[in-house]
Amino acid sequence: MQLFSDSSLIDGFIGAVAVLCVDGVVKWSKGVRLGTAKRYGVHKAEGMGEVLAMECLCEEEDKVIEGILPLGIDNRAAIATTASGKPGPGHYIWDIFHRRHRKARNTHPDFRLHINWTPGHVDIPGNEAADMAAKCAAQTGNFGGPLAVLTRLPFGKSALAQAHLRLLKKTATKEFMRSQCFARIKAIDPVLPSNKFRKLTAPLPRKHSSVLFQLCSQHVPLAKHLYCLNKSPSPTCPCCGSANETVDHFLHFCPTHQAARSRLYTTGRLARYTKHLLNTLSLLPTLFAYIQESGRFHAIYGDFKKIELPDNANSTR
Ligand SMILES: [Zn+2]
Repeated sequence: MQLFSDSSLIDGFIGAVAVLCVDGVVKWSKGVRLGTAKRYGVHKAEGMGEVLAMECLCEEEDKVIEGILPLGIDNRAAIATTASGKPGPGHYIWDIFHRRHRKARNTHPDFRLHINWTPGHVDIPGNEAADMAAKCAAQTGNFGGPLAVLTRLPFGKSALAQAHLRLLKKTATKEFMRSQCFARIKAIDPVLPSNKFRKLTAPLPRKHSSVLFQLCSQHVPLAKHLYCLNKSPSPTCPCCGSANETVDHFLHFCPTHQAARSRLYTTGRLARYTKHLLNTLSLLPTLFAYIQESGRFHAIYGDFKKIELPDNANSTR
């Protein structure tokens, strides 16, 4: 006789199952659908699978079970928790398991449970059956008769925290995509919001990162934006007086900065395009050299020191 327990997360639901095999053939199985993945984690489901395995044994009253009885589990964390006496998340489930184990020993005093790690998807019949049954439990609900243990477990703390974090990220993304800022940034980086900007600016000092984001969002202390904030009497470029001082005008067209711009453009063709210039790590040192040389942000930010990129930072983000 062999026991296998397993859990599965499928279609957003978590299922746990135990399978009892005799001579390599599944005699019967017991499964439970815990609930949604927003409220329960796989770790708890693994513990619940072990509890169900003990329920299988308790219900085998008319059969003599003796000797070593293996319980195969394909989750090392669950095995470690079973043997641990330390309190931890969901440990009350393993307390139930130990109580069920003692009850099974009362029914079958001559067996010794041996929990071992069973690798998944290697054609061990009982384990494969447990895997399939766990998916079935997650998709269709409880099976295998009434459960002696509580079927509605308290919600998992970490699962709730992760679900809340996902909700916060989703809400923040929606808010960001509704903002005017997003429409401008999208032209620079169409995949925002993402972690790419954080990776791009990781080697930069805080001041450089800040100005880079301001240039991307066009919320930068140039005359056009300051005029929109009623902080400048005119949107016209104070350097040349020939056009509104936008980000594009500052970077590519203002004749006052032509000498600095020619040095900026020596870095390559991509430097001539705003979306590449603000989005390519290897171009950032010359971009900030250009900003420093132009002196446009000096009154607010002071000097922009020369930045050195790490050797492995030559790839674009
Ligand atoms: Zn100008």
